[in-house]
Order: sequence, then structure tokens, then C-alpha cells
Amino acid sequence: MIDTHCHLTSKVFRGRETEVVDAAAAAGVSRMISIAVGSGDAKAALALAEADPRVFCSAGVHPLHSDEAIDWDDLRRVGTSPRCVAWGELGLDRHYTRPDPDTQRRVLDAQLEHIVAWTAEGLGKSVVVHSRKAVAELLPILDASGLPPERFVFHCFTEGPEDAQRVLDFGAWISFTGVLTFANAPEVAESARLVPIERVMVETDSPYLSPEPHRKVRPNEPRYVVAVAERLAEIHGLTPPELEARLDANAERFFGLPSDGHA
Ligand SMILES: [Zn+2]
Repeated sequence: MIDTHCHLTSKVFRGRETEVVDAAAAAGVSRMISIAVGSGDAKAALALAEADPRVFCSAGVHPLHSDEAIDWDDLRRVGTSPRCVAWGELGLDRHYTRPDPDTQRRVLDAQLEHIVAWTAEGLGKSVVVHSRKAVAELLPILDASGLPPERFVFHCFTEGPEDAQRVLDFGAWISFTGVLTFANAPEVAESARLVPIERVMVETDSPYLSPEPHRKVRPNEPRYVVAVAERLAEIHGLTPPELEARLDANAERFFGLPSDGHA
């Protein structure tokens, strides 16, 4: 399996990154994408990806880091590496008011402008979107960028079916974390029921959001993505191996990962 969204550069993993990746591999999670939250973090994520063939990375600025210094040249440079398979995560977080909404929006707009320019120079990639209480606000912004809708994934989807339908109507993908396994989030399971298998992915967003039955384990790790896939399989009435093969193919297609030929 592939954990399509984790944060291996998080300080809670410092010094034991290889141990975490080994533990994932032992659990059948053979590859993972370490998602960047800022330009310095993108360089750190690339360093991990260059050192370990099981790790890929992204380059982008998380909305909750949009008040930190951004080196656009660094982001672009990370994006030139074949180990960097996505732009982002970028977006809007309307749950938190810091950084303030205007700052988040300004950095989102600047980031999309850069991505459009980088795409024009041959650095086109899929885009990982962080959206919290912001689907209706974000969709017109993403649409106005002119980037193809099917290149966006709304990661860590925690909204209900109405927002899920909006994302699907737009044409983007949806990715689920351990929140899908939480008994107190039935609306997320409702959303998962709506998403066609060919447009869904799973992730841990580790070190956050440990899925059931590991919810009390901290930090969350890429190996637990298996529990998210099991819950999604249950929702769709598939066996976990059937769904996992589909999820792998989806992640390979969406991020342009090399197919590693296993089911
Ligand atoms: Zn994340």
C-alpha cells in the first residue's frame, strides 16, 4: 500500500525516520509521500525522499504556515526533482483564525500563480489541497487557476456529503484519513460512500489522527494507513485486498508514481 500523505519531517519522527519507514514496509505500506508545509520543510522532505526510495515528497505552503517566510525559488527547486510528486499542501483553513483569513488567501493565490507558471515551464504536478470548512470558498479559486480539476485532491476530507458532492462535481479527488474510522464522525463515512472508487485515496496525515483501533497510539505512523483502507473497504462492500489494489493504482496514476507491479 501507499500512504499518500504523511509528514515524516515532523519533529516527533526526528532521528527515527528510517525506523518509521521500515515499520510501514513490514505492515505492507511499501511507499509514502511526505508532504511539505513550507519551503524549508520541502527541502527537508526532499532530503528524506532522496535518501530512501520508498519515500516521495511534495513542495508547498500549508495555510496554517502562511505567515512564515517563503522561499519560492526553494519550492521550485524541490519541484524539479523526480522525487517530488506534488505541489502543496495548500489551501484554506477556516477552523483556525491564525494566520488570519487574508494572509491565508494571499499565500494561496500567490502559490497557485507560481504553480501555473511552473506548470507552463514543464513542472506540472498534482496538487494536494488542505481544506477545512472551506470547500465552497476554495472551489471557485481553484477553478479560476485554470489548472485541471482532476489534478487536485482534497486531502484529509472531514466534511459531510454535501461538500463531498461539490468536490466531485468540480472534478477533483478526495482522500480520507483515520477520521473515517472515528465513531463520532458519521458524516465523513457518508461522504466516503459517495466517492467513486476511481477518485478516492487514503492517507494517515501522520503524526496526527491515529485511526481506530490505534487511536490512542501517538504519534500516528504511515503503517496505520492499512486501518483507513480497511474501513473504506467495509463502506464500499469490498475485501481489503480488492480495494488496496485499486487504491495503489489510483495513487500511482494521480501522483505519477512508478508502478511497482505488486497488488
Ligand atoms: Zn498534512
